[in-house]
Amino acid sequence: MVCKNHVDRQAVAQCVKCGAYICAECANKTAALRNEMGVLCPDCYNGVVESTYNYYAAQRKKKMTSAIVSLVFYILGIICCALAAVISPVMGLVGFLLMGIYHAISWCRFAGKSLDEYDAKHGATYVVTSTGIERDRGTWVKVAFFLLGIVFGVFVTPINIIRWLVGAGKDKKQMKVCE
Ligand SMILES: [Zn+2]
Ligand SMILES: [Zn+2]
Repeated sequence: MVCKNHVDRQAVAQCVKCGAYICAECANKTAALRNEMGVLCPDCYNGVVESTYNYYAAQRKKKMTSAIVSLVFYILGIICCALAAVISPVMGLVGFLLMGIYHAISWCRFAGKSLDEYDAKHGATYVVTSTGIERDRGTWVKVAFFLLGIVFGVFVTPINIIRWLVGAGKDKKQMKVCE
């Protein structure tokens, strides 16, 4: 067998991904992933590196978006709370709502997803209403999660923002490794 990239060279290994035969030099080029993935040909190696890069880039984007969006709402909330003393106590309530809203929405979504999974496994619940029989979509559970999410969000949002930023930094490092 000869190397798929160098027809004049004897193959010493086979790519675990595509099965191509490769020479010692080609195998050396992909040595960085040898322990994790086994022997790769240069093409498959580049593919893995590229998809790894894209994966971390997407993760980083998600974390940065979460951090920035929740930070903006949090700051707006703090401003509203500060204005409550001057304008009206209602502003304070609005402020807390804004401070916790990003967290509350994610809890609400989580509740909705869990309820859908539960229904898929055990069958949906139906309730009799004045207009007929309707599927119980767990509205009250979602509302409860939303309200609890706001209360918790006021406290945990700063921690989450730091976690997202640190995570995004780590993703950036992984992207650099792939470059
Ligand atoms: Zn290959
Ligand atoms: Zn070769």
